[in-house]
Amino acid sequence: IKPAAASAAKVLDLDPTKLSIQKTEKPKTLVDPSKLIFGREFTDHMLTIEWTSNDGWLAPSITPYQNLSLDPATCVFHYAFECFEGMKAYKDKNGDVRLFRPDKNMERFNKSAARIALPTFSPTALIELIARFAKLEERFIPNERGFSLYLRPTLIGTQKTLGVGAPHSALLYVIASPVGPYYPTGFKAVSLEATDYAVRAWPGGVGDKKLGANYAPCVVPQLDAASRGFQQNLWLFGPEEYVTEVGTMNLFVALRDKETGQKELLTAPLDGTILEGVTRDSILGLAREKLAPEGWLVSERKITMPELHEASLDGRLIEVFGSGTAAIVSPVRKISWKGKLVDCGLTEHEESGEVALRMKNWMEGRQYGDEEHDWSYKC
Ligand code: PMP
Repeated sequence: IKPAAASAAKVLDLDPTKLSIQKTEKPKTLVDPSKLIFGREFTDHMLTIEWTSNDGWLAPSITPYQNLSLDPATCVFHYAFECFEGMKAYKDKNGDVRLFRPDKNMERFNKSAARIALPTFSPTALIELIARFAKLEERFIPNERGFSLYLRPTLIGTQKTLGVGAPHSALLYVIASPVGPYYPTGFKAVSLEATDYAVRAWPGGVGDKKLGANYAPCVVPQLDAASRGFQQNLWLFGPEEYVTEVGTMNLFVALRDKETGQKELLTAPLDGTILEGVTRDSILGLAREKLAPEGWLVSERKITMPELHEASLDGRLIEVFGSGTAAIVSPVRKISWKGKLVDCGLTEHEESGEVALRMKNWMEGRQYGDEEHDWSYKC
């Protein structure tokens, strides 16, 4: 695959020193934090950078939040030249704004862009620009635990053509949405339905990239699961029924080995069918750092639904949880699979297992800067 950027090696890279800022004259009224709904409210401004194959990345600008104007023939509308990221800015106890592991998001964003022939960029330059933008919008981040500013970097092909080919022009923009705690009243465990008629990703496909085109086809299985009372669907793969991801989260399983009783925390390996979650990577890091010394085995390995079911029946399944930027961790109570309800280790009155709870606290400690750590980037 040859990204369009590769053919334009001598053109300009993204340059944060060229940033221009036009502030809004109509600042929005802040919404009561308790009334925030994910992704509904947006801040005053947006960050925009245009790219052309002749000139490379043009001067970045921050402008009032506004509509885009695009020709109906623009390639993004026809062939889904679109990729995006999801990351957050947090306010620490001193009121400073912090990004969490933005380097990981930029790495994934560039991989997604390259896969669909959109231009790549200097990751440090975009982090610097996003940091400027997040800081400008800091009044939108409530100074309370659980609140943050969800950032949505987006890259689209803007060439006006119905011909299928690498776009010669593109637009990178970043918008921001203030968000509240995913679980305002504490954890609520979810129940999942294993989807048996559709797959999310396959070897050689693009399931490991954050392309808009991966998301629309996931909504119908999600609605089907919801119609039967399950909050999320579980994606399986292949005749072995490998457990892959849950809704828009990675999945972690804690269990005991059948023979040795060894405790293990595992998640699916990055074999090209799994989104490389930043939260997944962070949980693996924390587990290796903090759970391994307590005797846990931490693995990236495949597990099948029959194995998970067997562990549940044997009483060896300790807990199951999803991981992602929105919820950090999402404990799982039950999985509906082949007419059975697989119990995932929580008692009737529990909403979370211990590993998920500890992970949430460790993650928040680094996200909100309580613990000084190089995962946290001060804007
Ligand atoms: N899998 C999918 C399919 C997702 O959309 C997401 C959310 N980006 C994740 C996993 C979790 O990734 P992250 O931890 O980077 O939010």
